[in-house]
Amino acid sequence: MAHQHTGQRDLFEHRPAWEEDDARQGIVATVVLPEGIDKPLDYLVPERLAGEVEPGRRVVVPLGRANRRCLAYCVATRGGELPAVPLKEVIGVEDSAPLLSARMLDLTKWMAERWMARWGEVLEAVLPAGVRLARGVRREPLLVASGVSPTRPPTAIQARVLAAAAAPATAADLARQAECGRAVVNRLLAAGLLVDAGSREREPGRPAERVPLPHHRPGTLSPAQQAALDAILDPLRAGRHETVLLFGVTGSGKTEVYLQAVEETLAQGRQAIVLVPEISLTPQTCDRFRSRFGTVAVLHSHLTPAERHAEWREIASGRVAVVVGARSAVFAPTPRLGLIVIDEEHETSFKQATAPRYHARDVAEWIARSAGVPLVLGSATPSLETFARCLDGSWRMCRLPDRVGGSQLPAVITVDLRDARSRSRGVLSPRLVAGINWALSSGGQVMLLLNRRGFATHVQCRACGHTARCDQCDLALTLHQPGNRGICHGCGLIARLPGDCPECKAPQLVQRGTGTQKLEEQVRSSFPGARVARMDTDTMRTRGSHERTLDAFRARELDILVGTQMIAKGLDFPDVMLVGVVNADAALHLADFRAAERTCQLVTQVAGRSGRGAAGGRVVVQTATPDHPAIRSAARHDYESFVRHELPIREALLYPPYGSVVRIVVRSHLEEAASAWAGTLVARLRAAAAGAGDATLRVLGPAPAPIARLRDRFRWHLQMHGADGARLREVVREATAGLKTPAEVAWIVDVDPVEML
Ligand code: ADP
Ligand code: ZN
Repeated sequence: MAHQHTGQRDLFEHRPAWEEDDARQGIVATVVLPEGIDKPLDYLVPERLAGEVEPGRRVVVPLGRANRRCLAYCVATRGGELPAVPLKEVIGVEDSAPLLSARMLDLTKWMAERWMARWGEVLEAVLPAGVRLARGVRREPLLVASGVSPTRPPTAIQARVLAAAAAPATAADLARQAECGRAVVNRLLAAGLLVDAGSREREPGRPAERVPLPHHRPGTLSPAQQAALDAILDPLRAGRHETVLLFGVTGSGKTEVYLQAVEETLAQGRQAIVLVPEISLTPQTCDRFRSRFGTVAVLHSHLTPAERHAEWREIASGRVAVVVGARSAVFAPTPRLGLIVIDEEHETSFKQATAPRYHARDVAEWIARSAGVPLVLGSATPSLETFARCLDGSWRMCRLPDRVGGSQLPAVITVDLRDARSRSRGVLSPRLVAGINWALSSGGQVMLLLNRRGFATHVQCRACGHTARCDQCDLALTLHQPGNRGICHGCGLIARLPGDCPECKAPQLVQRGTGTQKLEEQVRSSFPGARVARMDTDTMRTRGSHERTLDAFRARELDILVGTQMIAKGLDFPDVMLVGVVNADAALHLADFRAAERTCQLVTQVAGRSGRGAAGGRVVVQTATPDHPAIRSAARHDYESFVRHELPIREALLYPPYGSVVRIVVRSHLEEAASAWAGTLVARLRAAAAGAGDATLRVLGPAPAPIARLRDRFRWHLQMHGADGARLREVVREATAGLKTPAEVAWIVDVDPVEML
């Protein structure tokens, strides 16, 4: 075979005899672009970059006719005979060390398939921006002679380099001192005659750590805690993967079990990743880990890119052994991983809402399996996915049915909102008011949950029925006080609400639907002696306000806390004696197959906040559907009975965990374009389903999405289900491959969605 490039012969002529090989041989790098072309591309690695191009580093490659320079991820290299088609050459190497390990590369490839995302998009997502963009803190490795005796006598040039490398120097310095090219240095590196002597760069500071409050370690575990800990230590000590669910009510001592499992992990010289919902990343949680383990990397969304990068490097170096963080902390680069824990595993925030729409629980399982380490999940209300895996025997369930210290779960009273008497005094039913009075007069605290922020959920004309709506969205404006502003909860648009109806001019606009602001106002006027605070995304806009409110509540500077589901999460307040759920049905009637699960979880969780102290507690749940299984089970603190009722329904409908769902949302400025494209997709999917020979495949839609217009885009959606997720994705991929999307349309694919709006 003829040489592909004239001139290539010359290049190889200069190489020392002991490296001579066939000119048709070479190294090919497979790269993935962060955006644009989805398909991995092959490039030739030129001799001068031979030691530097490796999987996990980014490279600069020429793209297209114009040979535009693009940054791409090298995902594989292979040596040997070059393909017959001439390849373009890699231009340069961006990173001085791999950003991604071989395992992370495999993981990202799997994620791309599992959630129908582009591989390049997943690669970008698993690396924090601070790491990807870190030009300023790029490593310049210092090299030294390793002292290893070479298998062949070094050439004169190589000997000069090795002599220069008696003291640590950068590759560039060595090449300069020895008067040779970088390739010589790289070859010596590859041969192990030169090694990395450390790093010259100055590390930007890690975020300051607070001095943790001491948190005592109990001397003995309860029998249930001990059984759970043993279930984790077994595989941990044996170096085996297993998934263990701690199914235990709030306060049953799950966190203590995680802490002791992490202790053992560290004792083995290994690292642990603990995932918690972002909202639980309070100083309280972090203190508990810090006081036990000293240095802990806390990865929360408030870190600056530089801080996150610094933490990333500390973890990668192995200097920090405990990582606590939200969803994306699952990608922390732990070289000695020994354990992964996910607390509150049912939380929907573990699924990413933007592409790649991965679920951290599945990612964690993949990593734990690949690393041969245990995965521990904990919840008082496990997801149906997790429950089903335990029931079928794939995962192990450990129950912690009782609260530590033996306090009883509170009695739950349901108030039927269909009964007019319960609405006689506004949103607080007489029984709820009586409960609040009882708690306050007994010296206890109160939490009131209402999952709607704002003052009134809409403003309506009493004369003509007109409702003030957002100009850009198909949503009613929520009235916010002070200022009488209408705010759209879809797009954030703020409008001044008129005094008179814009339709019929009648001066009869009335507020409807109570939000947390109005609830707060009613609570203040009904309980004038009580100190009241509200917690929702409106009051929690500034950093730290969440913690300040909770600290004040814990310090008993507040009597009543009013809030959205924010107050329901993982908080432990011994003096709360009454929890009121103002409207348990708020989420029950959404067109979402998870609506009942979500409602049962929320009510069960919030009910678990009451009566944790010696004085006991009560819960009042106001609902218009007291007989709904989700409400009834929550009221009995019997989440499992709900699960056993709900799982067969999911199974019959082939919804997760028994099947898989692909949801497609189409958006456009033009309603007809959105509906037409949704229709095109449905027709293709139906045809593909018919041809696939899988009777379980079903297509639903197209239909306008529950929020039919958002930010001036019309939204249509459709769903496809099937028993076999991999098969379903394959059918969707085939049906949509090569489709040319019209310019005025955008569409996204969400596999196993947790949000259906
Ligand atoms: P969960 O995570 O299930 O809500 P925690 O681990 O936070 O439960 O335990 C609740 C409280 O009980 C914490 O204050 C914790 O320190 C304490 N605790 C946990 N286990 C024990 C134990 N074995 N003995 C005494 N106190 C314990
Ligand atoms: Zn809007």
